[in-house]
Amino acid sequence: MREFSYRRAAGVREALTLVAEHDDARYLGGGTNLVDLMKHGVETPGRLVDVRRLPLGGVRETPDGGLAIGATTTNSDAAAHPEVRRRYPALSQAVLAGASGQLRNMATVGGNLLQRTRCGYFADLSQPCNKRAPGSGCAAITGAHHNHAVLGWTGHCAATHPSDMAVPLAAFEAVVRYETLDGPGEIPLADFYLPVGDRPDLETALPPGALITEIVLPPVAAARRSRYRKVRERASYAFATVSVAVALDVHDGFVRDARIALGGVASRPWRARAAEEVLRDAPATPDRFRGAAEAELAVADPLPGNAYKVTLARNLIEAVLTELAEKDGR
Ligand code: SF4
Repeated sequence: MREFSYRRAAGVREALTLVAEHDDARYLGGGTNLVDLMKHGVETPGRLVDVRRLPLGGVRETPDGGLAIGATTTNSDAAAHPEVRRRYPALSQAVLAGASGQLRNMATVGGNLLQRTRCGYFADLSQPCNKRAPGSGCAAITGAHHNHAVLGWTGHCAATHPSDMAVPLAAFEAVVRYETLDGPGEIPLADFYLPVGDRPDLETALPPGALITEIVLPPVAAARRSRYRKVRERASYAFATVSVAVALDVHDGFVRDARIALGGVASRPWRARAAEEVLRDAPATPDRFRGAAEAELAVADPLPGNAYKVTLARNLIEAVLTELAEKDGR
């Protein structure tokens, strides 16, 4: 492991300054991903700036009836918060579906958004990987890619984003707030992750040196009846093969609002807008649910070894819509 210095910031301004004054400094939250990658030599920061004790934790109400979750809130605390569970159950379920209890106690909400892909080649320094070493190639496209993307990938990278939490955040149109030395800013989650293009190493729209301060959830009536379901290779602890977050509001047999996002299928949480379009103001029937799932996956472009994900994603969307509609009808 490369030698690095460690500094603990006493305030947000100090954290921003400590990162700005060092060429290759990184913020350290729970360290559950960053430290692993440092051990593998994938991440090689010269300075770590510990932000875990900054006063950025907790969940608060927003004036418009939404919630703001502080960046240093642990995943465990976010998932257990009564208002998160009541108003955005899919978010609580998604966080609890990620990692293990020990990791959730360490990991922070802000860090969760910035975690890197679990593509095996990304963590293997002996292999070409455009995300780790731009221009070196992509070992996955002709290699082991059974767990790679089926939507939105390019010939430069087919990695998936590993966060469970980001999937319902995409469905609920969360906003990421951050601080910089020039002042605060915010980015809707829909624009937070950059398309893969030809630079898969560029992952987010955060300005250089920015520190995520909180994630804001707008009020979404349909979110109270939302569900996150994750398919993974082992039940105890694994990243998503495919996951889905669905919020559904049905009134008099018709869909008033539907929010759907997929995980495990693209380089970012995939908002299923084509499926939502098929559902909005339509009868909440099995045919419509199947049609919505098919509409979304019509643009899927699987690699030779991961076409099963297309079927899985289609079936998951349909199954969770059916489950929520039945619940609504009770
Ligand atoms: Fe690297 Fe992306 Fe290819 Fe994986 S899929 S080897 S992360 S470029």
